[in-house]
Amino acid sequence: MLAGVEWGDKWMDKPVKVSYIVIRKKFCPNIEAAYDVGFAGFSERGGAMRWVLFSDLDGSLLNHDDYSFAEACPALEKIKRFGIPLILTTSKTRREVEAILAEMDLLEPFIVENGAALFFPARYRGWDLAGGVRFQSYVVFKLGVSYAEVRAFVKRTASRFGVKGFGDWSVEEIVEITGLPPEKVRLAKEREFTEPFLPGDEKEMEELRRLALKEGITITRGGMFHHFIGSGQDKGKAVKVAQGLFRRNWGDGVRFIGIGDSANDIPMLERVDVPVLIPHLDGSFERVDLPNLIRASSPGSRGWNEAVWGILNDVERFRD
Ligand SMILES: [Mg+2]
Repeated sequence: MLAGVEWGDKWMDKPVKVSYIVIRKKFCPNIEAAYDVGFAGFSERGGAMRWVLFSDLDGSLLNHDDYSFAEACPALEKIKRFGIPLILTTSKTRREVEAILAEMDLLEPFIVENGAALFFPARYRGWDLAGGVRFQSYVVFKLGVSYAEVRAFVKRTASRFGVKGFGDWSVEEIVEITGLPPEKVRLAKEREFTEPFLPGDEKEMEELRRLALKEGITITRGGMFHHFIGSGQDKGKAVKVAQGLFRRNWGDGVRFIGIGDSANDIPMLERVDVPVLIPHLDGSFERVDLPNLIRASSPGSRGWNEAVWGILNDVERFRD
């Protein structure tokens, strides 16, 4: 049992089958081809206890330097085996997330561009997704403003502070800054809501934030970039919308885990039952103090794996 986390036999006493998932071996070679998916635990009233995992990508599930999730494969395997939805909750774009979900062979809801929108696969588990808007193969819940509005602010105001964003840089320039391969940068440039930029000095950023707020835009801090985002959005607000849909369709017994490493993850961590903080590359942690907070022991996918593995082992102890 993890210290400070109130799981116990009052919640979980016997296994329940939840779904059947087929997993390809492409990216996680040790994953077996298929699982008769296990259990999700039981609530104190004896009803099914289901878990949902919200996770940041850069610096959390993906490493800072090589953007790999290979070291998280054992825990990814486990969450698939348990049938736990993994909701990627990231500053990345829809197109980038779609590519990563394909690599992981997952078809799950996801949150893009720092909580600007929540995308559910339209026929996800046959659920009631009323309140969302149909877009391509998704039902979308939008919290942010349009990319055109954010770009207009960058051109009109932020450029006076010498601030440039993704819309000002070429693919080659972003490759240089991020170390991402050009094909991934092209997906990152297909923005729908928000604009990543490199910050100037602290004082200027405060002035810029003040001007932005007048136009319904604010600034959030990620790992490498700051981001201009709609002032009505953050990862926590999008997580709240997702939690409402999970509760609507799965009942109040559902429990939430959240994993992140940066300031923009804090609103997400504040909303979950089990928050997990991944350290920065230098081993330091973002300053946050929450009940039940678990601090992972390593940065990136290694820390993600250890933390999720530990949590799920605690859940698993109650299956037999
Ligand atoms: Mg991050």
